[in-house]
Amino acid sequence: MSESAYPISLNDRPDWQFELKQAYTRPEDLLRALGLEPSLFLGDIKARKLFSMRVPRPFVEQMKAGDSNDPLLRQVLPLRNEFDSAPGYSTDPLQEQQGPVEGLLHKYKSRVLLILQGGCAVNCRYCFRRHFPYDELTFSKRQLSDTLNYIKDNPEINEVILSGGDPLMANDKRLKDLIKEFELLPQLIRLRIHSRLPVVIPSRLTSELKDLLSKSRFKSVLVLHVNHANEVSETLTRTLKEWHHAGIHLLNQSVLLNGVNDNIEALTQLSEKLFDASVLPYYLHQLDKVEGASHFAVGDDKAQTLWQQMTYELPGFLVPRLVREQAGELSKTAIMPDGTNESTKDKL
Ligand code: SF4
Repeated sequence: MSESAYPISLNDRPDWQFELKQAYTRPEDLLRALGLEPSLFLGDIKARKLFSMRVPRPFVEQMKAGDSNDPLLRQVLPLRNEFDSAPGYSTDPLQEQQGPVEGLLHKYKSRVLLILQGGCAVNCRYCFRRHFPYDELTFSKRQLSDTLNYIKDNPEINEVILSGGDPLMANDKRLKDLIKEFELLPQLIRLRIHSRLPVVIPSRLTSELKDLLSKSRFKSVLVLHVNHANEVSETLTRTLKEWHHAGIHLLNQSVLLNGVNDNIEALTQLSEKLFDASVLPYYLHQLDKVEGASHFAVGDDKAQTLWQQMTYELPGFLVPRLVREQAGELSKTAIMPDGTNESTKDKL
């Protein structure tokens, strides 16, 4: 932000849990911090009751003051469009199935996904989980014990994916204890963490966590969720480079969002900025059709055109795969460019 509402210097940066507590939860406060007049947004602010607002201050620092169309603000500010209903949109677009153990999904043969922690540091308005009481979810000792037994009974599983909500809402001690348990299972070779938290609070990437992952016997993969180049701050870039040097594999998945990143400049800048921070673009997701988020949708034709343009503008390793999640499908569906067959199931 050019006119910062956050007068603490980088050197005095509080730790990530303090940052969590300091997050903006009232749209009026966020708007004022950005030099925008809340009375001009009264119809929008009401959408907060559909899904609460939560925006950490380091993320706000990356926004442009005075710009109500800022691509970062647009992702987190409640808008009146959320009251619109659109055909094909539902409160549970992916119809997530109950897994073999509570909090565990086993959709893919060699991987299990563990819902470690319900809440998130930021509430993204387009989130497919916006209608779930995710904040209440935790992963109990009993669930862990059941999970370990399930993995032992299924020797084809070689990777654990920590998800949520946001698994990095769990503190380092809890993560350490959990990883120790998984390390006792010889069949497991990889640990993957899916998180948006470091993007909105870079100090979440603590040295302790970096050491924990780099010294683990697992190959560790951190999959970030960045949608726009402006989200990648200097602090985040510096820290991610350190993590990369420590041997942690860094990938990114984005969501293609109307008014945020649905143009070729935004998408190429995002890939370049990610690579500068040692992160490889992995997926570009089409929006999950969740009620209240239809204003973020980008049509498949436009998505395919943008993707094709990316292949002209960028080296292949900086072009993410364009995909969509479909309820009931065992894998993501790749959205192929015009002129080829219909969407093809890709084991991704
Ligand atoms: S961080 Fe991810 S899970 Fe959390 S609200 Fe945003 S999109 Fe949803």
